[in-house]
Amino acid sequence: MNFSKTIIRWYNKNKRDLPWRHTKDPYKIWLSEIILQQTRVQQGLPYYETFVKKFPTVHHLAKANEDVVMKTWQGLGYYSRARNLHYSAKFISKNLKGKFPNNFEEIKKLKGIGDYTAGAIASFAFNKPYPVVDGNVFRVLSRYFGIKTPIDSAKGKNEFVEKATLLLDKKNPGTFNQAIMEFGAMKCVPQNPDCGKCPLKNGCEALANDTVSALPFKSKKNKIRTRYFNYLIIRRIGKILIRKRTENDIWKNLHDFPMIETKKNVSYSQIKKMMGINPKYIILNPKSFKHILSHQIIFAKFWETNNINYKTTKNMVYLSKNQLHKFAFPRLIERFFDEKTIF
Ligand code: SF4
Repeated sequence: MNFSKTIIRWYNKNKRDLPWRHTKDPYKIWLSEIILQQTRVQQGLPYYETFVKKFPTVHHLAKANEDVVMKTWQGLGYYSRARNLHYSAKFISKNLKGKFPNNFEEIKKLKGIGDYTAGAIASFAFNKPYPVVDGNVFRVLSRYFGIKTPIDSAKGKNEFVEKATLLLDKKNPGTFNQAIMEFGAMKCVPQNPDCGKCPLKNGCEALANDTVSALPFKSKKNKIRTRYFNYLIIRRIGKILIRKRTENDIWKNLHDFPMIETKKNVSYSQIKKMMGINPKYIILNPKSFKHILSHQIIFAKFWETNNINYKTTKNMVYLSKNQLHKFAFPRLIERFFDEKTIF
């Protein structure tokens, strides 16, 4: 039996029962695909269910307030996904009258959708013959066919997409794509796959050449950036000063506290000087956190001050305890809330 047939047969017997596998609604498939980017199924599942319940159609999502969308996404990380989802929902609802585009090129024009997601929606919702090549697919193909071209190079990406296109079951592209992704997620896993019980073991190049743990191959390692954040905790009559982040970064439109970023760790007297704090105001010893993201390590200090004359900007507001839960915060700020009783 060939590679594609074996994979589909394995999938039909072993696939997980997941809600987005019971629908052809492109809106729901799109939601699931965006949620599952960089996210494990177990973590993404409750978010998918909440989104579908709160925003059952693209019009509901389009009409939602941005803070509500961000709050619903809170905890999933990579917040640009939520911003793009909301932006594209508004576009589909208004400009396309709610009709999701049904061809690959048009789907790819939506904000936040690349080749992978466009291929997934085109094949799962519309049964169109486009491959999907995610991390799982890279791993299965590189191991089974012994492909050593780095997956993070343009050459590698083209080679893997060509291979996946050749293997695609043209009558059942959606099923084939689901099958190979599921096989990578469940069977040909990154660490210690159970090759002895693998239905593809007889043709697997990596198994034959003892290169399973070395594949897929990557050329570069991620560069990790170290950053130092100094948050200012400022209270006024039972409220705390919060700012909406406007910087064009991963946390755009989430909320945190006024913050001073420094090149290195700063001391009590340095931060007092930077804040232009009048000696009559006090700053308490900070609460410190080390927060690790995929490309950054953040050393955060939360400095509490009674400086009520702090100069606010228009994206800052004093919020009470009851108002706080309506807004979305990065995980780092949630960690601070978890450890510190601020009201
Ligand atoms: S034999 Fe091992 S490495 Fe090869 S496809 Fe199966 S699980 Fe993956």
